[in-house]
This record gives sequence, structure tokens and C-alpha cells, in this order.
Amino acid sequence: MTGSALAIDHVTKAFGATVAVDDVEVTLADAELLALVGPSGCGKSTLLRLVAGLLAADRGTIRIGGTTVDDGTRVVDPERRHIGLVFQEHALFPHLTVAQNVAFGLRSLGRSERDGRCSHWLDLVGLGSYGRRYPHELSGGERQRVALARALAPAPRLMLLDEPFASLDPNLRAQIRGDVVELLRATGTPAVFVTHDQVEALATGDRVAVMRAGRIEQLGDPTEVFHRPRTRFVAGFMGDASFLPIARDGGGAMTELGPLDVPDGNGERVAVARPDDVTFEPADAGTAEIVGAEFRGPVRVYTLRLASGAIVHSARSHLVRAELGTRVDAALVAGHRLVAVVDEHTATGLDFDTCSDPD
Ligand code: ADP
Repeated sequence: MTGSALAIDHVTKAFGATVAVDDVEVTLADAELLALVGPSGCGKSTLLRLVAGLLAADRGTIRIGGTTVDDGTRVVDPERRHIGLVFQEHALFPHLTVAQNVAFGLRSLGRSERDGRCSHWLDLVGLGSYGRRYPHELSGGERQRVALARALAPAPRLMLLDEPFASLDPNLRAQIRGDVVELLRATGTPAVFVTHDQVEALATGDRVAVMRAGRIEQLGDPTEVFHRPRTRFVAGFMGDASFLPIARDGGGAMTELGPLDVPDGNGERVAVARPDDVTFEPADAGTAEIVGAEFRGPVRVYTLRLASGAIVHSARSHLVRAELGTRVDAALVAGHRLVAVVDEHTATGLDFDTCSDPD
């Protein structure tokens, strides 16, 4: 994989007794966007800082565009890694104008080429007429665009973005995120995005790496990590999820909401039900009961208690109105099938191999 945009090979980094990055392995193809997502403290920023060269690995190797930049002993300086960095605080130089900020990484070029590239990038981020302004004369979104133009202007081999949209308000955030992804794609620049926001990760990444406690727990395309999570942690972190016990049913496996496939392998399993998987109809003799409802704008999410006492959620159109206490029949939405995940850290799931046979 020496030709890949980025190769992180069994990299470990500890701070005292805290192993922030634990034997991580991941490669990035040319022009690929990787979203690195996980809860606070799972090691995302440390991994990004190792790639940037702001930290040195204890063990393992990092290669950028085929060049080894850290092998645990020799460490290449950040400015010699040909990377673009964008952080949440957009760190512009306050005493330089927008144009001077963008030109900062182009000092080795002649004046006319530098000015030409600078206006090219300011035009691309939609700030062609802002060159003479100072950072304090810009909105948060505009500052973030300048930071992006500054990082992209030297044509980096790799872009590293650490929570780049976190300081923007939600509407602006979605728009700037779309603009940034478009720009990275248009320039064919591979990038690693760090975010703690699963929606952002699903929307930006060609692939998503879900981190937990210093390790990558699952790496896959967005639909894979959302619809085919491997562990209970990934299922729960990537979206609203309820977990149901699994029982053996003849040769197959069954939950209260219907059958499912349980892959081979070790570990206790539980079924994942997402709110869009579950529907219900009022029925006097229904075995489930509505015990909660939450209005979320486009949908209302109902909480159902099934006959066994298990709780699931059901997202319904705002046109559906059901009172608390209503008896209902719960079912899977047509075409939906539950997935089984390894219930790795709790003892609430049933071990598929040992659970009781209903016959
Ligand atoms: P994330 O970006 O996912 O929130 P970090 O990479 O910042 O997580 O941190 C991972 C772990 O490493 C945390 O336990 C954090 O406290 C610890 N850590 C990060 N940087 C340092 C540091 N410079 N010194 C000591 N501990 C650190």
C-alpha cells in the first residue's frame, strides 16, 4: 500500500498510562475522504495529530503518499509532510489580511504566481472580494472558508480536518460541510475529517472509521457502519438504536419483531432495531403499548413497550397521532430486517448458541 494517500500501520501512542491510540491500522486511497468518528476522548485528535506530525508515534509507521513520515524513531516535521490542516478554531493570523493569510503557505512562489493562486482559491471558496479584510471582519463561516483556502492553496497531498465545523451554527454547518466536501472532491484531495457527530461522519465520509478507546472498532462505507454495525457500541453510537434479545427458531433466529440473520462467530448477540424499522397499528388485543412520544419535526418518535417488556422506538409521520397507553401491534416496516450485533460489553444479550429453543 505504499502508493496510498495515507497508510497508518499498527500505530500506538500513549500519554503516561493512557493509551490514546492503540495499534491502529488504516489506509486511505487517492482522493478518498475518511471520517473519523467516536465519543470524546476515544483518540481521534491524537490520531490526526500523529498524521500531522504534531505528535510522534510510540510504535508503528505512518506513510503519506508513499513517503514514510514516522516509523517510531525517525519523525518528519509537519511542514515537510505536504499536508493541509484545518482546525475548529480556524487559527487565522489576526494581523494578516485574508489574502495574506491564504498566501502564507505560498511564500516560495514568485509574486504574480502567488497572487494568482491566492485569488483562485478565494474565488473557489466564494470570497473573491474579501482579500483585503482582516479575520475579525469576517463571520465564523467566512473565517472557516479562508482557513480552508489557506490549507488547500499549496496543493497538499492530504488534508486533515479536526472538528472543522463544530463552531458553526447548525444551518451554516451543513452548507459549509457540503461546500468543503465538494471542493475536496473537485481537487481530488484525500482527507481525514475528525468529528464526534455521527450525522456529519455519514454525510462526509467515503468511509467511516468508528473509534472507541483508542481503537478502530469498525471501518466501512457509511451504509455499512449504519445498517450493518458489527457491535452494539457501533450500532448505538451511529444512530438511535434499541436492542432486542434473540431466540433460536428452528434452524434460524427470531426476535419479538421477526426473524433475522445471525452471522457465525463468538460472543453474545442482540438485534438492533432503529426507529425507521418499526411500525405499529392500534389493536385492542395488541401485545405492545405506547409508553412515550417525542416530536422531532418531520417525525414523531413513539416509544413502545413490547410484550416481553423490551423497549423499541418507532418513527412515524406527524399525521399519525397515538395517545400514551394505547395498545398496539408492533411490526417491522415492510422490507426492513433487523441485524444482529455482538453485545460485547454488557451481559444483557442472549448467547445465540446457548439461548433456549422455543420449541
Ligand atoms: P478525542 O479527540 O477523541 O476527543 P483525544 O485524542 O483528544 O480524544 O484524547 C484521547 C485520550 O488521550 C484522552 O484520554 C485524553 O485525555 C488523552 N490525551 C490527549 N492528549 C493528551 C496529552 N497531551 N497529554 C495527556 N493526555 C492526553
